[in-house]
Amino acid sequence: MSAVDPQTISQPSAAASTAESKTNPKHDSKQPHITDTPITRQNWYKHVNWLNCFFILGIPAMGCVAAFWTPLQWKTAVWGVIYYFWTGLGITAGYHRLWAHKSYNATLPLKIFLAAVGGGAVEGSIRWWSRDHRAHHRYTDTNKDPYSVRKGLMYSHLGWMVMKQNPKRIGRTDITDLNEDVVVVWQHKHYLNVVFFMGLIFPTLVAGLGWGDWMGGYIYAGVLRIFFVQQATFCVNSLAHWLGDQPFDDCNSPRDHVFTALVTLGEGYHNFHHEFPSDYRNAIEWHQYDPTKWSIWLWSKLGLAYDLKQFRSNEIEKGRVQQLQKKLDQKRSRLDWGVPLDQLPVIEWDDFQEQAKNCRGLVAIAGIVHDVTDFITEHPGGKSLIISGLGKDATAMFNGGVYLHSNAAHNLLSTMRVGVIRGGCEVEIWKRVQEENDQYVKDESGNAIIRAGNQVTKVQQLMVSASAA
Ligand SMILES: [Zn+2]
Ligand SMILES: [Zn+2]
Repeated sequence: MSAVDPQTISQPSAAASTAESKTNPKHDSKQPHITDTPITRQNWYKHVNWLNCFFILGIPAMGCVAAFWTPLQWKTAVWGVIYYFWTGLGITAGYHRLWAHKSYNATLPLKIFLAAVGGGAVEGSIRWWSRDHRAHHRYTDTNKDPYSVRKGLMYSHLGWMVMKQNPKRIGRTDITDLNEDVVVVWQHKHYLNVVFFMGLIFPTLVAGLGWGDWMGGYIYAGVLRIFFVQQATFCVNSLAHWLGDQPFDDCNSPRDHVFTALVTLGEGYHNFHHEFPSDYRNAIEWHQYDPTKWSIWLWSKLGLAYDLKQFRSNEIEKGRVQQLQKKLDQKRSRLDWGVPLDQLPVIEWDDFQEQAKNCRGLVAIAGIVHDVTDFITEHPGGKSLIISGLGKDATAMFNGGVYLHSNAAHNLLSTMRVGVIRGGCEVEIWKRVQEENDQYVKDESGNAIIRAGNQVTKVQQLMVSASAA
């Protein structure tokens, strides 16, 4: 969301560059752009976009100084807040959701209103703003993203405007539709007039003609209101890519946060927005703060807006479930599920018994050897029962013969695996390994998902016969 048209400033017009090459013999069109040269003490001022600095930082600074001797009248304060919302909506509902994303259609009177109040926010023309914003969506977080948060939070908020940008670096986007929109073309052509009239003159006129507060209208509803609207909407580029959750996709930086939504007239559900950019909503829950969505809805009821686009909730929920699954996988991968069966050493039955005799707490369950030495004293069923299973095949005992162990017990047991028995059980084990490796559902990292009741130590048949007995 730029303060002024970055291209008009950083890229000289064709006429200007021809004139320059004629008057300046040193001029070389093949010279690298200033952004391609490192910042030094000698050239730092050439890297700064001074016009943008004036619009974004200079004007508000002057407004703050002037506010010292300009009393704030309550009528002007109310008007300033109302005009803040209008100009903010010009950006969020107009520039962003109507023109950049085509998430709904507007009648001519609404288009004219949005183009006018959007101009009053002093963030560049619709045409340039939407071009940059489309590049931001298409090339999010890459070098072609005009305000990539990967270059730092302050860069995405202000840095990309106060420092010069190489226009060739910004990703190309299609804006043919905008070139065919008469309101967009008109606003772009008369942009400076629109900015001065809607940004400063109009709010001053309202306060001046309304209740005689010319200076207050100029300073509070004009200058300082521009500052607040700019800073608020810039947060969509910075805060919305830095603070909050990623309920739909975490491949890129966009995030959802109620704080960002409060600051940006509802543009804070940015993770949703980057996933479903042509949806006229940013917030999909009724309780989430999205006054931009409410305004568009209201305009549609008044016949001013139509064709409001909405993704099917089935598609939205699919994205949400997939992201949940991803987070679950990450959580699961941090847990100890025991050594995978095919990585365990094969132990002879005699060796197993021999080691168990030599005071090693080994127990075989479903052909898998578990070392329970450290668990004997902690066994909830008592020491003697667990000791009675040492050096034996305790499959039946564990699965209901003595006690039908819980799901948690099977999980815990798997962390004590130390080997598999060779011999009679080998074929069985081999089969189970195949089962664990091939038939079990795997997560993204290829780890088998062990669901409750699916542990290899859980032997269904034994359970059935044990309960039948
Ligand atoms: Zn974004
Ligand atoms: Zn967008």
